[in-house]
Amino acid sequence: MSADVRTINADLHSHSRYSDGRLEPAELVLRARGNGVDLFAITDHDELAGLDEAIAAAAESGLPFIPGVEVSVTWGGETIHVVGLRIDHRHPELVAGLERTRAGRDLRAREMGRSLAAAGIPDAYEGALRHVGNPALVSRTHFARHLVERGVCRQVSDVFRRYLVEGKPGYVPHNWARLADAIGWIRAAGGVAVLAHPGRYPLGALARRALLEEFREAGGGAIEVLSASHDASQCRELARAAEELGMMASRGSDFHAPSESRIDLGALPGLPAHLTPVWHDWPEARTAAANRADAAAGGGARQ
Ligand code: AMP
Ligand code: MN
Ligand code: MN
Ligand code: MN
Repeated sequence: MSADVRTINADLHSHSRYSDGRLEPAELVLRARGNGVDLFAITDHDELAGLDEAIAAAAESGLPFIPGVEVSVTWGGETIHVVGLRIDHRHPELVAGLERTRAGRDLRAREMGRSLAAAGIPDAYEGALRHVGNPALVSRTHFARHLVERGVCRQVSDVFRRYLVEGKPGYVPHNWARLADAIGWIRAAGGVAVLAHPGRYPLGALARRALLEEFREAGGGAIEVLSASHDASQCRELARAAEELGMMASRGSDFHAPSESRIDLGALPGLPAHLTPVWHDWPEARTAAANRADAAAGGGARQ
């Protein structure tokens, strides 16, 4: 692995309007490029529909692009997220698995609407639908945007604190994919499975370690060490875990929208130097490193 590949600005976790982001795939690609991202992935929740647009936009602007997805999983009663990177987004097993994962979302959303109505907030389901960019993918984020628009809360993060989470009005438990299935679909599609923002799950140290070990046993390849969800000490802890478990490390802003996301595309710090980046042997990463070297020398981008 050349030093260049290690130090590229890779942002391998972001969301478009096809899930709960606010930007079109092409807008995300342009924003990533403008922010100095060298290697970029869009990872919509349980959905692949934005990837063709993203691939076309990235090819046009000369930004090395990695097709991705973020699969919703239920593990030990908790919802966890598994990012799949460098997937063949037409692979039938992945396509079918995600279709099943998306299937319960609308019923769940109607139930959330009823739960909020019982708490004195009527018509939230209809309101959330007005924010949806993809009818197959109604998420808690769309409810949160609607409640902000209605003046129930000042910002999206306040909605999640007061509603939509376990024990609060609007929360509806849901059974997502099984961990081994999600990893299996990603690997069947030629991708690598990355445990998304492990610092965010409400798990004690032992349970978090058990999750990481089970993830690796089930075929998971990398840990998202750098994420907007992690503070510096969580990054250090996860870097240590990646090293101890012999897993690769990933870096992703989890960008959703300019007004909502704390960290912009490409704005995270670099990965600790002793870790193996998940992109270490990808040809797209070599192109990204070459583009960066060309730009530094005053040349244009390689396609
Ligand atoms: P869902 O897949 O419908 O359960 O929605 C999950 C999404 O809600 C996540 O991907 C985040 O984008 C968003 N979310 C979850 N918790 C929070 C939070 N505390 N603040 C802001 N957004 C959140
Ligand atoms: Mn999201
Ligand atoms: Mn996530
Ligand atoms: Mn995400």
